[in-house]
Amino acid sequence: MLNIDLHCHSDASDGMLPPAALVARAAANGVDVLALTDHDEVAGIAAARVAAEAAGIVLVPGVEISVTWEGVTVHVVGLRVDPAHPELAAGLDGIRKGRIERARRMSEDLARAGIGGAYEGAHARAANKQMLGRVHFARWLVEQGHAGDLRAAFRQFLTRGNPGHVEHEWASLKDAIGWIRSSGGTAVLAHPGRYPFPTRDMHRLLDAFRALGGTGIEVITGSHHPSEYGKWADLARAFDLRASRGTDFHAPGEGVELGRVPALPHHCRPVWENWPELEPLLSPASATCL
Ligand code: AMP
Ligand code: MN
Ligand code: MN
Ligand code: MN
Repeated sequence: MLNIDLHCHSDASDGMLPPAALVARAAANGVDVLALTDHDEVAGIAAARVAAEAAGIVLVPGVEISVTWEGVTVHVVGLRVDPAHPELAAGLDGIRKGRIERARRMSEDLARAGIGGAYEGAHARAANKQMLGRVHFARWLVEQGHAGDLRAAFRQFLTRGNPGHVEHEWASLKDAIGWIRSSGGTAVLAHPGRYPFPTRDMHRLLDAFRALGGTGIEVITGSHHPSEYGKWADLARAFDLRASRGTDFHAPGEGVELGRVPALPHHCRPVWENWPELEPLLSPASATCL
């Protein structure tokens, strides 16, 4: 069966590995098809493509777009996007500019709590100076001894009610799905189990996502507990959405490893059904396993 991992991050966003090293690691882990889905950024795709060709795996150009829906941050993964598409590029550029402005406000808030120099610290740790995220702040806070590890940094700082947390308005759900689709891509709702919605609101989100042109949801992700897989597989079916699989890998030793999550449940309709770039990989025998 093919190992298809459609969600991970390089150091073009808040991952630790440069795109080429990320792709080589995925190939070494047995991944056959990898989507690079950096937060609000496509700058890593060109290098990832070259590395994928060398490693003999399929690289799916992707992105993970930050969205605000009814006051809550949700993430939309775009798969098979054209990174050069002007509408997508302009949309992502706007979000990244908003991230820089947010980072300044986060830094000011940390300074009020007695922690100075956070913007400069986070900026120095970001390989891509255009893409500043909370993880860059968290890594700096750990290095400075303000938190024991990354998880603790997010428990003590950067989250609601804690120093370094600021409200921020991301892209609209409509715009994010629109940019993905106009660049030729497929929109997938990332890690739906992570959002704090009661059932009724989750159903409204799935309805809205579908109505705006979304295609699938992540059923198997590093963010879902195995006990939740069945629920999301059922919801995908109920809302006429395809199922996706991705690790959301960020760094070695941090969260789930590339390619290392279970396969989709058998009754799922995979988001990659009928993708022409996968046809050469599908022998009749393996096709039945999809
Ligand atoms: P941002 O988009 O800059 O607000 O950062 C979101 C990213 O922070 C996520 O993609 C994760 O990589 C990371 N993150 C969020 N919450 C946590 C947490 N509790 N522990 C570790 N990383 C987290
Ligand atoms: Mn991240
Ligand atoms: Mn995410
Ligand atoms: Mn992610």
